[in-house]
Amino acid sequence: MTDTHIPDRDASLAAIASLPLRTRLFIDGAFRDAKGGRRFTSENPATGQPIAEVAEGGPEDVDLAVAAARRAADDGRWSRLNPGDRKTLLIAWAERIDAHREELALIETIDSGKPIADTAGFDIAETARCIRWHAEAIDKLYGQVAPAPEGVVATITREPMGVVGAVIPWNYPALMAAWKMGPALATGNTMVIKPASYTALSLLRIAELATEAGVPDGVLNVVPGPGGSVGEALGRHPDVDCLAFTGSTDVGRRFLHYSADGNLKRVLLELGGKSPQIVFPDVTDLASVAANAAIAIFMNMGENCSAGSRLIVHRSKRAALLEALVAELANWPVGDPLDPSSRLGPLISRSQMDTVLDYVESGMGEGARVVTGGEQILRETGGYFVGPTILDGVRNDMRVAREEIFGPVLSVIEFDTEEEAVRIANDTPYGLGASVYTDDLHVAHRVARELRAGVVGVNAYAEGDQTTPFGGYKLSGFGGHDKSVHAHDQYTETKTTWITLRPRP
Ligand code: NAD
Repeated sequence: MTDTHIPDRDASLAAIASLPLRTRLFIDGAFRDAKGGRRFTSENPATGQPIAEVAEGGPEDVDLAVAAARRAADDGRWSRLNPGDRKTLLIAWAERIDAHREELALIETIDSGKPIADTAGFDIAETARCIRWHAEAIDKLYGQVAPAPEGVVATITREPMGVVGAVIPWNYPALMAAWKMGPALATGNTMVIKPASYTALSLLRIAELATEAGVPDGVLNVVPGPGGSVGEALGRHPDVDCLAFTGSTDVGRRFLHYSADGNLKRVLLELGGKSPQIVFPDVTDLASVAANAAIAIFMNMGENCSAGSRLIVHRSKRAALLEALVAELANWPVGDPLDPSSRLGPLISRSQMDTVLDYVESGMGEGARVVTGGEQILRETGGYFVGPTILDGVRNDMRVAREEIFGPVLSVIEFDTEEEAVRIANDTPYGLGASVYTDDLHVAHRVARELRAGVVGVNAYAEGDQTTPFGGYKLSGFGGHDKSVHAHDQYTETKTTWITLRPRP
């Protein structure tokens, strides 16, 4: 793996003109225009300026892409490769992604507004790491022999499902795709992926790099376009065997309907969240809690499914923790995402910014107090910047505490007893992440067990890493988990082979 290098702003500005922006659909190993000839504009949310005209796919393009993926699934060019050979090709692809890390990071930054320190330091590096991790695992997994009766050999093996469709959000455009591509491709499936329209560019280039690395044509296809046409067409397609979705709970539900109305394809949903961070009265290092709590809510501008958006703090620590949090914000400069020192860039779009600001208003209307932030800043840039925002005096029944805001807005809620803290934390329709801050081992274990969430961090904000599954309880997920070997199960079918042995003559 190459060392992490964050390009400086001048180098990035100079490189933008020659970036390899791929703006057409990627089907069967080649770029092509949408059949309908339509294109849509992708803009830089830091400036509001257009950066590319991207081909807008439709259902007819989905048909073409699924047909290519079907051929590649059925003729065995990928599924019947030796696992070790699939591994070699996927690792070659991951290496290419690493080698193009700065270019891909820059594409991601101008398309999504994510700070270059994050895209170069994390998103693209982690995309390559994810693909490599699944590739390396795939020739080390064994099937099973069942304890069947004498005279029978019964094996239990996993087989690829066939064609996997994936529909991806805009908050981690490359990485969310990698969380699907890593396990789905390693286990021998072929794929058709629809990126979010705001952020199609990095994935189109990453797909091209797969072909350059030797991944056979038709194995990975990318069709940008609107959710209501391309996303729905994938969800309903009779030749798609499994649909993996990351996005909002409302859209996620639709995929269950699409499947139920049609071929009962397997549906895997990674959805929204309203994750609690509980701070118990025994904590001594409030600066450390503040630093972690800030990461939990302000990382990626709060556009994060597992953002720790509810800070549930013991009454005795509230004032001191607020003070520590405000001090911590000195470490969270907002600015041009091409500047390596920016930790917050713009929100993805004007409408997302308006939604976030509406939530702040609604919180104030219900009695919350803005400690800091809560308004658009850096207007002169033309971008959609909102500073880190802290709302104090929030009750858990307010909209800001119940609904996913998907922006840099932290709601501070007080509690008195451990039971009350757990009750407030679990009083949400979501169940993705949670954090517990305490120096008491007993409290940590007790509360971690009681929290209805897929990932619980103790004394830190945590999403785990590639070795651990990531997924949610309740309205935060359905059908499976991303990451780790657990993700392999969701992209494979289980086969029993029952072999009856003839008695010796
Ligand atoms: P979204 O649900 O609006 O869109 C996600 C994808 O679905 C996009 O590609 C979109 O074009 C497509 N889509 C929209 N309408 C569709 C339809 N009718 N049929 C089929 N596809 C359709 O979500 P978003 O705004 O892109 O992303 C933010 C959401 O994603 C948040 O709720 C966030 O919590 C969630 N998210 C979850 C995870 C996780 O792992 N649990 C990770 C990242 C983001």
